[in-house]
Amino acid sequence: MDMRVAIAGAGIAGLTAAWLLEDSHDVVLLEKRAQPGGNLRTFYPPGTGRVPEAVELGVREVPSAPDSMVMRLAGELGMDRGHWQPLPSGRLLLSDRDGQGRRRTADALEPVPREVAVRAVALMAEHAYRWKSGRLGWEVPLREMVRDFDLPDWVREVAVYSLPAATFGCTLDEAGALSARAVGELYAEDPSAPAVAGCRPRGGMQSLARRLASRLFRAELALGTALRSVRLRGGGPEVTDTDGCRYRTDALVLAVPADEAARTLSPHFFSPARAPLASYAYRPLLYQVHRSTCRMPVDRRLWAPTTMSVHGARAETTDWHPTSDGDLFVSQISSGAPGPGGPLASASFRTLQPTPGMLRAQRKLLALQGDDGVFFAGHVTTPVNTLENALGSAVAVARRLAPRSRRLARLLADT
Ligand SMILES: Cc1cc2nc3c(=O)[nH]c(=O)nc-3n(C[C@H](O)[C@H](O)[C@H](O)COP(=O)(O)OP(=O)(O)OC[C@H]3O[C@@H](n4cnc5c(N)ncnc54)[C@H](O)[C@@H]3O)c2cc1C
Repeated sequence: MDMRVAIAGAGIAGLTAAWLLEDSHDVVLLEKRAQPGGNLRTFYPPGTGRVPEAVELGVREVPSAPDSMVMRLAGELGMDRGHWQPLPSGRLLLSDRDGQGRRRTADALEPVPREVAVRAVALMAEHAYRWKSGRLGWEVPLREMVRDFDLPDWVREVAVYSLPAATFGCTLDEAGALSARAVGELYAEDPSAPAVAGCRPRGGMQSLARRLASRLFRAELALGTALRSVRLRGGGPEVTDTDGCRYRTDALVLAVPADEAARTLSPHFFSPARAPLASYAYRPLLYQVHRSTCRMPVDRRLWAPTTMSVHGARAETTDWHPTSDGDLFVSQISSGAPGPGGPLASASFRTLQPTPGMLRAQRKLLALQGDDGVFFAGHVTTPVNTLENALGSAVAVARRLAPRSRRLARLLADT
């Protein structure tokens, strides 16, 4: 029998949940922003108009493994291998330290010798794979595991901690306090298998979200309408949106950031779920598209697809896109400092900090999954924050709410 299901948040998790549930249930999907996709945000530079020159502001890439859930979903949506393009890899590390780790007086950023940076990243990939395959506990901090890397202290800081510091928008010091396992899984590489390259849809990551939204035939997608509050009524969640509409539902799927989920759940009915959600912390990250070379080395021969700049307590990245219309750069800014002048586009994100405390809280939250008809999906439910895992969390919810969904069966065929 059809259930009435409300879903909040049209990021990849909410969109996928709606797509999987709509052939079994009456679904309404509420999204605060005017566009679906959440962290999938693509910028199309004016004037070029051609699909391959799409530039990513948020999610940049997914692994190209053909059996991944992302690739399976894309296949179901008609985006076969030809819709995807491999991404160039390569990173240049710039630092304000000299070869002994001392700050340069002029505060100039200079390239870190390539072999030093490569060795540090290789050590991280190798150890992180062992943490993953050995099922290292999620609450062990990175600092404890990295201590044994055979590297000078300053290299550890500049070349190892800079990776999570840039990804999670925190300081180098704070990166050491994050969960080694949650951070490591982003860099882990199986030494006995060929490396898996990153890729993205030719039309940009947001085209995946748009395609998914356009394949919702029964679900109602309410863009620009946020979830405002949730209480219990008649044994199920009663949802009110920012237009004042009320929905009596049998199930609610919260695919929104943790603080949004906590804010909307009535303390009177949902205090057990609100408590763990309060332990989640986010950091702001600003992305800007620009044409300024100010974040690149003066010597163009050194340019790489990604430049990581370590300065003071922070690490920030700039991606280089050579287009037919000249060089474009996407800089990530976590310091709150103004970015390069005259950006063509910018977008603000918040990134969840995978601290041991957050991961403990996450386990408590997952133990409440489905209580009173309230389900959680998306990045609040996954220890390792990737698109693949966010999508997997929507699949897990669909398994509970619509185990006989034909789309679900096709997505999981032969897994
Ligand atoms: C800057 C950045 C870069 C990343 N890069 C990568 C990458 O390259 N590869 C990768 O695999 N992963 C990457 N990730 C992780 C990836 O983005 C996430 O795992 C995934 O997108 C999370 O999807 P989600 O649906 O859980 O959440 P989100 O994408 O955050 O979507 C949540 C949605 O909820 C909406 N919302 C919020 N409040 C309400 C409300 N009250 N009512 C209704 N709607 C609401 C928001 O507007 C948003 O659309 C990145 C993350 C960030 C922040």
